[in-house]
Formats: sequence, C-alpha cells, structure tokens
Amino acid sequence: MLVYEMKLEGNKHQYEQLDQAIRTGRFIRNSIIRAWQDRIIKSRNDAYKYCKTLADNAEFPWAKQLNSQARQAHAERAWASIERFYRNCIAKIPGKKGYPKFKKYQVRASVEYKNTGWKLSDDRRYLTLTDGFKSGTFKLWGSRNLHYYQLSQIKRIRIIRRHDGYYAQFLIDHSLTENKLLTGKQIGLDVGLNHFYTDSEGNKVDNPRFLRQDERKIQKLQRRLSKKQKGSKNRIKAKNRLGRAHLKVSRRRNDWACKLAQRVIQSNDLVAIENLRVRNIVKNHCLAKSISDAAWYRFRTWLEYFGVLYGVPVIAVNPKYTSQDCSNCGARVVKTLSTRTHKCPHCGFVADRDENAAINILAEALRELATTLGHRESNASGENPLCLESETKPSKGTRTKRTRKSQQ
Ligand SMILES: [Zn+2]
Repeated sequence: MLVYEMKLEGNKHQYEQLDQAIRTGRFIRNSIIRAWQDRIIKSRNDAYKYCKTLADNAEFPWAKQLNSQARQAHAERAWASIERFYRNCIAKIPGKKGYPKFKKYQVRASVEYKNTGWKLSDDRRYLTLTDGFKSGTFKLWGSRNLHYYQLSQIKRIRIIRRHDGYYAQFLIDHSLTENKLLTGKQIGLDVGLNHFYTDSEGNKVDNPRFLRQDERKIQKLQRRLSKKQKGSKNRIKAKNRLGRAHLKVSRRRNDWACKLAQRVIQSNDLVAIENLRVRNIVKNHCLAKSISDAAWYRFRTWLEYFGVLYGVPVIAVNPKYTSQDCSNCGARVVKTLSTRTHKCPHCGFVADRDENAAINILAEALRELATTLGHRESNASGENPLCLESETKPSKGTRTKRTRKSQQ
C-alpha cells in the first residue's frame, strides 16, 4: 500500500465543512465505543449496523450527512481499538491493556472515505467531496502524480487536519518491489544513548544535530505557551506555534529516518534490530529521550517498509542481555550503563559496548531465523535423519560459539 499526500486548497467555508466531517467521524467512533460499553454492540458486524442506527436518528442530523462508507470506516476504527484491547487482555500483557477511550477534540484529526463520497477531476488536480457536508472542490498541491495509477487502485482517502492546513492522503493499492543485488553483508543495530545506533561492524551513526536544535526550540515555545493566560487569544496563537514546530520537527525526523533506513537496507542482505516496545517509548517524559525514541520508531518503520520492498529480512529480537553477554564466548559480563567498553574476563574479548551488543543482536536474529525455519521444515516425529553417530554434547559454549569471523 502506497500513501500519497497532498495539501488541499479551498476557502474558509470549505474548511469549516471539513471540520464538520472530521467531527462527525469522531462522533461515529465515540458513539460506537459508548455502545460497546453499554453492551449494545458485540461484534464488528454490530458496529456496522449501528452506523445505520446513528444515521437514522433524528437527534444527530449530521451523522446522515457523512458518506455511508465513511461512517463504516470510522466504525472500523472504533472496532479496531476494541479488538486491540481484547487482544492485549488475552495476551495478558503487563500494565495497561489500552481500554478504548473517547477521542477528544484535537487539531490533528482526520476523516476517512472509501470508494465513494469523493471524486477526482479528469486531470487529477482537483478533489471534490460529494457527501452531505458539501465541502466542494479543492485544488491539490503536491509533488506526486496521481496519473500513474488507476482510480480503482485508490482504496481510501483520508482528509487530515494539521496545524498548518488540510491534507488529503491517497491510499493506493500498489505493491512495489525493487531489484537489489546481494551484498553478502548482514548487520545488527544497537540503539544507544550517545549514538543513534552502532552496527555490528563498529560503525556509529550519530543522532542528527537538528534533534538537539528542535528540542531546544520546542522547549522555548512550550515555556511561552505556559505563560499565557488560559482562554486568551495569545494562548491559542502560542499553541498553534508549538503545534507547527512539532509538525516541522516530525517531518524533518521522518525525512532523515527514511533516507538512513533506505541506505541500510540497500547495503545489507539481512538487518537485525532490537525489539523495543513502542509502549515504553511513548511513556517517556524526558524530552530529549522522547525525541530520539520517536526518531528510532520512525527509522524502524522505514526499515521494515524498505525491507519488504527490497526483499531484505528485518528481524527484531528481544533486547534482553544483548549488552551484557560476551559476543565472543557467550558469558554474561555484567556492566553498568557507564561502562562503555566490553571486556570479557573469560575469553579476553574487548570491544565497544554497543558494538558488542550489535553483534549479539545479529547473532540472536540468525539463531531465531534458523530455529523458526527449522521448525517449519522438520516434522515432530522421532526420526531424525541428521542424528550423528557420536554423541554431541549440548554444552553452553555451542550456543554462542560463533566467532566474529564466521558471522560475516
Ligand atoms: Zn568472552
């Protein structure tokens, strides 16, 4: 699925109509969550049906104005959050299970259309929304060319409100694959505090300098906002300024992460990373940390995207002990965060702390790959054609006896 985004140009009245549509999308979503809490809805199908009930209710005349498939799209959103909650409960994940919440007003919000309720002009430069809100025709601004795709390939359209205007996202059903020559290289990446990542060959990529600058700028705007009186015009202005700054920062970060990820995927045949939980990332209150975490999250998403595109497996492994264990002999060498060098007292292996971790991550990924493929290939019968004549001892060493040379 490809996503193309273009800015919408219209007049004030049109934008107000978009606001109404966005508000209605949120209304549908929240109504469905409420109906689920009241046990009126018990399945996805019920949720679809409930859309009709809402539209037919004279108390909510606006619900009928929204395109019927758009209503369903928002029912899907609501049901997805309910399902996620159920899944988390069944999986018994520790901590909060993500009980579905009602969405409040936010500047950044969107409304989603499926196949109907919109129309592209023949030259594909204008988008007309044709549902009951009558927002009319918008000029599309963007560098992408929609001509290349059939209309039937456009599966959904999202109208997104941001701090600096309204955008249309086109979700295009198009599977790309790119040719890539084998490079004969595999790589493990370790995220660090001091560097953005360190790879298993010891190369380091620093956090981009703009992360720091952006952080300072956001702090400044945040301080200004907090000094403004609640409910005042100046506060709204300050809030808008902060919102725009955040937007700019996230665009810059996304751009950087995208390019870096593409380079990593193009120059390797396998990429191993740590499976850091998004949950932990979002919870972080320290600004500097949260900014670099967001960058890492973006980077990882792009890695996975390009991985599929170029046919490079991206494997996320459990980060437990990756920085503690010796990548040469497998012994656990406990160190504090301030210990920057890994020195193994057992085998004498010395390496940079993060590099050692990156090697462990790569080794773990290969191990996981080997076992999952192995399980798929061999059946569970007792017969083992690979049984060796002499007994092999599953000693501790065999697990990690991969020397650095054999990994490459
Ligand atoms: Zn060792």
